[in-house]
Amino acid sequence: MSIPCLGRVHDRRAVAWESSGVSERRRLPRRYLVVAAFVFVVAASERFGGPLTVDALRGAVSSGTEAAADQLRDRNARGEIHLTFDDGPTPGYTAEILELLDRYDAEAVFFPIGEQVEPNAALLERAVDDGHRLGNHTWAHDRLADLTAWDFDAAVGRTQIAVERATGTVPTCLRPPEGVIDDAAVDMAAAEGLTVEMWTVDPLDWQTDDPDAIARRVIDGAEDGAVVLLHDGGGGRDATVDALGTILRELGRDGYRFTVLPGC
Ligand SMILES: [Zn+2]
Repeated sequence: MSIPCLGRVHDRRAVAWESSGVSERRRLPRRYLVVAAFVFVVAASERFGGPLTVDALRGAVSSGTEAAADQLRDRNARGEIHLTFDDGPTPGYTAEILELLDRYDAEAVFFPIGEQVEPNAALLERAVDDGHRLGNHTWAHDRLADLTAWDFDAAVGRTQIAVERATGTVPTCLRPPEGVIDDAAVDMAAAEGLTVEMWTVDPLDWQTDDPDAIARRVIDGAEDGAVVLLHDGGGGRDATVDALGTILRELGRDGYRFTVLPGC
């Protein structure tokens, strides 16, 4: 990338250094800000790609720092999105999702099914190594209502043990299958050290094989603190994988960061 005006900025800064005038020295910090704006804009452009590059550079050159600063401020204000993946791990799909998350420097939470943990332990170990977190989605997609303490332990406690054996980490958050959980199960989860984590955006990725529909629902629902429900198991997930690439690219370009759901 060529930045034709950067040399000119340096030249003007050199003039300022050579000048002994007080007024020149007072303006010096503003010139540094122009250079700093270039650095930020170039760094942000390389990080996110997209249309920011040329326009922001021109703005920084023609009208000082303000245009570029405004754009960067808008982006920084976008905030964080929390991606979550239920029903895995699944050979193929989970690995593809991990690769996409890595490519876009995104963190997520996986809520595995307990009975799928041991056969796919390597996928969960990789997820942990990549900086993702693991929750608990019960042993066999169990409904967390009207359970005895024994039933709850068979569904949730057993999954805690499986995840810890496979990865060395102990989940701190529980995603109830189908979002169903009664007060007694909430209390039993709390006794197990688990907080219940639902979602705010459900693109119904398990209902469609249209990746554009999934991506559009997530993008339309994006806001600071959004919790997105996706699936890396429970059936064919090609559409989810395809949609994820679009979601990471477009929302990343808009300035969102993908971080681990607090509580996990
Ligand atoms: Zn589920």
